[in-house]
Amino acid sequence: MAEVSVMSRLNKTSIRVTDIANQFWCERQMELNCLHGTKFTKEMAKGRSIHAELKDEVYVPLTVETVTYKDYLYKAAYENVMSLHSLKADGMCREVRVFGSINGYKVSGQIDEMRIKDGKVQVVERKTTQAGRQITGSYSKTHAVQVMVYRKLMEDIRSKRYAYENFAINYGVGPGKDGLSEEFKRGLDAIGIHGITQSTYEMYKKMFSEIYTMPELSNDLEIAYVDRASGKQIGSLDIPYTEEAVNKDLTWAMGFWLGKRESQPVPESEVRKCGFCKFFGKECTVWGGQKTIGGGYAKGN
Ligand code: SF4
Repeated sequence: MAEVSVMSRLNKTSIRVTDIANQFWCERQMELNCLHGTKFTKEMAKGRSIHAELKDEVYVPLTVETVTYKDYLYKAAYENVMSLHSLKADGMCREVRVFGSINGYKVSGQIDEMRIKDGKVQVVERKTTQAGRQITGSYSKTHAVQVMVYRKLMEDIRSKRYAYENFAINYGVGPGKDGLSEEFKRGLDAIGIHGITQSTYEMYKKMFSEIYTMPELSNDLEIAYVDRASGKQIGSLDIPYTEEAVNKDLTWAMGFWLGKRESQPVPESEVRKCGFCKFFGKECTVWGGQKTIGGGYAKGN
């Protein structure tokens, strides 16, 4: 019997940058989240609303409702073009989708912020946290991987290692392949977007050329920590980007997606993470089966 690939077992067609980052927290947990779905928590809802507020400060999103996947792709490209314009005009933009390919797998993500610093484009990732909470090494590693992979994917496009033509093949975009729903097109008409600009193909060509002509990317990356309650920035971490470091992390991470090894649970030295994991003692019994009162960890037999 033919072996089932990791991607089809997890019912995925592309890898999200956050999946890769989460492998560096607990790879087994990331796999279980893909299999069982991520529970939407109050903290995630708050984080999302802070992101939405920040995004709305910078640009007006395309408010037309999407019906098909191609509608969604069009909207993503249109909003990216608007964001990249504000990067060039005002020195800053937020919520930019990025697409790429690693080991032949489609990879995508959404960059929180890019800003011009010393003439170069700096990639910034925002994380919500509680004021006073210490940022531990495990957290910062996960966040650092995320921002480094964003930087790498952006550079792959800018340098045309992942050019428009690669994207068009990967996502089935091209002349005569627009597939926009009539409802979506009527919505575009209503806000004055007509004719050739109603084409997903043309919109992505525009988006890629905006990235090709963007200033050089900075090697200084930033993680900005934002207070969950107030939405105010309370700290930041500077992350130096090197190609060697990101390639090393990706080689390890892709080992899982390529099916070269099983997902790894946390090592015993990091077993405290299991106390906060919804799979602990249920889908994952690597480190025991019972939670102690207070969410702590109790090792099983
Ligand atoms: S219980 Fe621990 S090892 Fe298992 S998935 Fe959760 S965090 Fe990872």
